[in-house]
Amino acid sequence: MAESAAKSTFDKLRVASLYCPFCRQARPVRLKLLLCLPQGDKYAYYCQECGAELAAKMEKGES
Ligand SMILES: [Zn+2]
Repeated sequence: MAESAAKSTFDKLRVASLYCPFCRQARPVRLKLLLCLPQGDKYAYYCQECGAELAAKMEKGES
């Protein structure tokens, strides 16, 4: 049970903070929707301090 719960948490990949090369430390991030595509939505993570894009991900709407 604990193992499957950990896997599902990892799949969702909710990131609260990421290392920012501009701030030179881990910063809280803001998730922004960039594109709505038929195959899914594209999101990007931005540093809340300097606004740099730190990561991007695709989230599939329908399986
Ligand atoms: Zn930053």
